Amino acid sequence: MQNRTDNKLKSVAKKLEELIPEGNAQIVYDKLREIMRSQKEYFETYSALSVLKLTLYIYSFKKTKNFDLADSIMNKLFFASLFATENNPHKETCDDCDGGGTYNCDDCDGTGNVTCNNCDGDGTETCETCDGNGTAECGTCGGSGEDEEGETCDNCSGEGTEPCDDCGGEGKTSCYYCSGDGEVSCNNCSSYGTLDCENCDGIGEIETDKIEYDIYELCSWDNNLYNILESKLDKDEPAISDENLTKFNKSFIILNTVEEYDEFNIELEEDMYYCFGVNKIDEIDLDTDIKLMHLSRNKFYIQLNDYIGNYIA
Ligand SMILES: [Zn+2]
Ligand SMILES: [Zn+2]
Ligand SMILES: [Zn+2]
Ligand SMILES: [Zn+2]
Ligand SMILES: [Zn+2]
Repeated sequence: MQNRTDNKLKSVAKKLEELIPEGNAQIVYDKLREIMRSQKEYFETYSALSVLKLTLYIYSFKKTKNFDLADSIMNKLFFASLFATENNPHKETCDDCDGGGTYNCDDCDGTGNVTCNNCDGDGTETCETCDGNGTAECGTCGGSGEDEEGETCDNCSGEGTEPCDDCGGEGKTSCYYCSGDGEVSCNNCSSYGTLDCENCDGIGEIETDKIEYDIYELCSWDNNLYNILESKLDKDEPAISDENLTKFNKSFIILNTVEEYDEFNIELEEDMYYCFGVNKIDEIDLDTDIKLMHLSRNKFYIQLNDYIGNYIA
């Protein structure tokens, strides 16, 4: 990344100025990043400092038709890293069910049905009427094989038996418990085939002790804001309320925001900003502490190098 000379940046600022709407420095920065996206190859070689200066030159030129305002801002410039939270616990995917909230029933392998115990899956049971023989006493001759005249019984041809009515002579009937299917509903899962994951109560996620929060990296040229943030740097109490920070919005630029989650070692107040980094421009290493980043979608942003570690459990 090379630092453009100030004169070079000023001439670029004059060219871009008309593409950028009126407003505070934040609007200039955000619009400039859109332009950078559309001319990726050209701006990729810019340093973070050059992008910042270009922002301020455009802002200055739009307001006053010269660059003095930008130069005075650069002299007072400081960077700050803040974070704020709504204290929402971070949720993680449940390992036990891979986030599905349920798992397959072991008893039925997820089918909802198990083999019928009564018939061992066969679907039939021994006929109770004939005890499995398939035959019953002949109803005509009462089993004697002869009719009243002593002749051979027509019905059973003298055998004395006839096929069992209940099983049609098969000796087996359809299983009473499974109606012949060989399977019955699984009791373990009420035939759903799945059971709610006990680890996550079927939700698929588990609340952790980690809290979701947002990091705001900004630069500002307001000495009052610097003093407020500097006095609360890395303190257990918030540095500034949401409402009060907004009052400074003509003199800061939010360079980027990041969503994070971590376990904190203090109770965090909501709608408040905590400060974990504040450095005047001459206190930072312009090559390593401030970087121009771009995401895969070519979204450019400036990133600072402060570490939130003091607050993290
Ligand atoms: Zn059965
Ligand atoms: Zn029978
Ligand atoms: Zn008979
Ligand atoms: Zn089951
Ligand atoms: Zn689960």
